[in-house]
Amino acid sequence: MELPVTADVVVIGGGIIGVSIAYHLSRMRAGRIILLERKHLAAGATGMSSGLVRMHYDNPIEATFAHRSFDTFRYFDELVGGECGFVRTGFVRIVKPHHLEPLKANVAMMREIGIETRLISSDELKEMAPYMVVDDFAIAAYEPESGYADPHLTTMSLAEAARRHRAQILQGVEVRGIDIAGARVRGVQTSRGFIATDTVVNAAGPWGAMVAAMAGLEIDLTLALHQATILETPPEIPTPHLTFIDRINGVYARPETGGLTLTGISGGEHNKVIKPVELDHYSETLMPAIQYQALERLCARIPRMETGRVRKGHVGVEGYSPDGHALLGLAPGIEGFYLAIGMSGHGFKEGPAIGQVMAELISNGRTDVVDIAPLRVTRFEEGQPYQGAHPYL
Ligand SMILES: Cc1cc2nc3c(=O)[nH]c(=O)nc-3n(C[C@H](O)[C@H](O)[C@H](O)COP(=O)(O)OP(=O)(O)OC[C@H]3O[C@@H](n4cnc5c(N)ncnc54)[C@H](O)[C@@H]3O)c2cc1C
Repeated sequence: MELPVTADVVVIGGGIIGVSIAYHLSRMRAGRIILLERKHLAAGATGMSSGLVRMHYDNPIEATFAHRSFDTFRYFDELVGGECGFVRTGFVRIVKPHHLEPLKANVAMMREIGIETRLISSDELKEMAPYMVVDDFAIAAYEPESGYADPHLTTMSLAEAARRHRAQILQGVEVRGIDIAGARVRGVQTSRGFIATDTVVNAAGPWGAMVAAMAGLEIDLTLALHQATILETPPEIPTPHLTFIDRINGVYARPETGGLTLTGISGGEHNKVIKPVELDHYSETLMPAIQYQALERLCARIPRMETGRVRKGHVGVEGYSPDGHALLGLAPGIEGFYLAIGMSGHGFKEGPAIGQVMAELISNGRTDVVDIAPLRVTRFEEGQPYQGAHPYL
């Protein structure tokens, strides 16, 4: 396909965030929308995502994003068209004993938002999931309707829907420069030529700081590797089993299609930080020490998993902002340059709503989904990192 010479909006990055933005913009008839992906759709963090679709967060903005996105996953065919591979398993969040009060406060906050969640006693959980060890906590948070979805399939289906609304999605086109004149975006230089536009959205995920630098903007993103392991679910454990995040042991798990379980370490301490120069060349070989740690932690919660044979695993990269929350909104001092980066470990499940929020912001100058000012790009230099009222630090 020939490279278009003009666009109303150019979205950079074909992960869940860029594709969702392109989908919502095109649905809103926001003009000629062009998405540029340097490799192929879901080539970055999205393609490696574990795909947990839950709504439990310790802050109202992300809980709202996850809640608003949830219906998209649940009723994907009706709302978007096509499939996202959503599987309802139920979700349990276990917190450390000293986070019991924040847990109660956060469940109340989420219920206020409309999220279907409640506190559950360890006895109740044991009845529901006899395979789980529950003697190290009294209560947990439960979401009966949550589960997981297929990040690759979700991205492809959203892209297909965006195309139906006349967005152009171009793969194998790398953005190499952003033209700015008079503090205003004028276009993008790509590996296949120039596109004139006055609106550019940086949705380049972990590459987001590099793309921001093309516009002279310095963004602090820490890049970290996240490893997932897939094992056979032992026959004694019913499938699909519960999806859970267990912060006592520091592990998460969900069932995977085909009688499998996907697991990884939960919490920041396992992340292997890499440098931007390593971003395109990090080793995709599994790190045995991390894999062993993940399996050990999984078995602490579900001892029967000990007999599960490891099938495979993969390593992906995440881009963390200094407070672990997304950077959303206009870049300071550059008219027409928007950022939707720094999704950390949450971008997949929040992607549908973040796409809507960004599309509304670009088209209408505001969004009614939730006040995103606390996630503004300048918050760190203003000394105002974002956190909820009851964080699980
Ligand atoms: C192992 C792992 C497990 C995870 N588990 C979960 C989970 O269970 N639930 C959840 O919600 N989140 C999870 N996450 C996080 C989630 O996957 C990310 O937050 C999300 O996918 C980020 O999406 P994105 O679109 O911002 O970035 P990406 O998916 O990385 O997309 C960015 C795209 O931009 C492209 N690009 C970069 N530079 C350029 C350029 N110059 N020109 C054109 N294109 C460019 C890249 O090729 C890439 O495709 C996980 C992440 C990993 C790695």
